[in-house]
Amino acid sequence: MRVISLASGSKGNVYLVQAGEDAILIDCGLNYKTLSSRLGTATNRDATLSSRLGTATNGDATLLSRLSGILLTHSHDDHTQGLKVFLKHHPEVPIFANAMTAETVIHDCQLDEESFVCFENGQPFELGPFSVKAFSIPHDTSDPVGYLISVPRPASGEQPSEATQPKAAGNSLTYFHATDVGTPLDSIGDQLAEADLATLESNHDPVMLHNSGRPPSVIQRIYGPRGHLANDQAANLVRRFASPRLKKLALAHLSGACNTPHLAETEMRAALREMNRTDIVLKVFAQDEIVEL
Ligand SMILES: [Zn+2]
Ligand SMILES: [Zn+2]
Repeated sequence: MRVISLASGSKGNVYLVQAGEDAILIDCGLNYKTLSSRLGTATNRDATLSSRLGTATNGDATLLSRLSGILLTHSHDDHTQGLKVFLKHHPEVPIFANAMTAETVIHDCQLDEESFVCFENGQPFELGPFSVKAFSIPHDTSDPVGYLISVPRPASGEQPSEATQPKAAGNSLTYFHATDVGTPLDSIGDQLAEADLATLESNHDPVMLHNSGRPPSVIQRIYGPRGHLANDQAANLVRRFASPRLKKLALAHLSGACNTPHLAETEMRAALREMNRTDIVLKVFAQDEIVEL
């Protein structure tokens, strides 16, 4: 399973999750042109992905139409603003969301109900080779979620590096995805403990946020229990809950004004050192760069 961020941050979020010939997107917060072009670039960089999903010569559209679906985390613009035009081009691709998110997005983006497949938080469902389970996260919109996405673990002969996985990892490879997290709840940590790969929000540095000159109401919203996760909160969540399974970690949804990749990475690296887990591959996702976990 591979995870590639096509955009991560308050101006737009799209994440590609791919296994073999199948791929899904998490969120659709890029306009169609940018989404097609970044997906084309991401797949052109990698001949394997490109040949599996359709050549990307003009294959961006082919690739988009072959998606098994788009999973929505919540209704905010930076996660949904590309949906309307995307569905004009690819009405056959189903959009997955819980009922409250679907209702809000259908209303706000003026979409057809028929495009949506609703799930219940906590109830796993199958999507191609992916087993998907949404879990609740606190954020200031209706019923926001993160995801655990599992695929069968490749046979050890195929990927020798996986052969040394601890027994607890079982027969599946599991990806944890949580952005826009107001409070680092233990229930979210419990999901993180299941993960072999993880994307976790590391939104802001609290000092930069408080000195940002933004209106107090905006600072309170971001800092508050239904806002965004600070660097130290993300590091603490990993410190407390990451299990020996975790091999790769990406920091996501960094604030452009109230954080820097260096600060976020430094905070998390300190946690990984304390945990004796400097073996974990650490990446920082960006607003305008394609980054593979
Ligand atoms: Zn967001
Ligand atoms: Zn949000």
